[in-house]
Amino acid sequence: MLHPCLRCGACCAHFRVAFHWSEAESFLGGEVPAELTAKLDPHRLVMRGTESKPVRCVALQGEVGVQASCGIYAQRPSVCREVAPSWEFGEASAQCDKARLVHGLPLLTPQDWIDPSGAGAPPLPRSA
Ligand code: SF4
Ligand code: SF4
Repeated sequence: MLHPCLRCGACCAHFRVAFHWSEAESFLGGEVPAELTAKLDPHRLVMRGTESKPVRCVALQGEVGVQASCGIYAQRPSVCREVAPSWEFGEASAQCDKARLVHGLPLLTPQDWIDPSGAGAPPLPRSA
């Protein structure tokens, strides 16, 4: 199953992505590439491209709604990790739904998480 986010990217082209500056400071263990950020206020950085409209994070690769990926996936800010795709964990996500609506994409449903290969299906009940 291709993960739905890899055909989307809408949230990376809708929300301002702001986070504490320490996330881009390597001496504090931060991993976000500082050159992809801008100062928002004394306490926060913002991913470049998300501080003004039209929003598109500088790290987003591909075309929204077709093929999309994060160019710094392993180093992305904490706020990006907190956005759950709707129904991946059994409930709708307000942020996911809002971003997809804005970009004219259908909302994800539980059906989007069913693996057609059956690899994730529960075992069949045993016969007596
Ligand atoms: S979390 Fe939702 S809006 Fe964001 S990329 Fe995934 S499917 Fe798209
Ligand atoms: S850092 Fe990656 S996950 Fe976060 S908004 Fe940018 S492209 Fe999306």
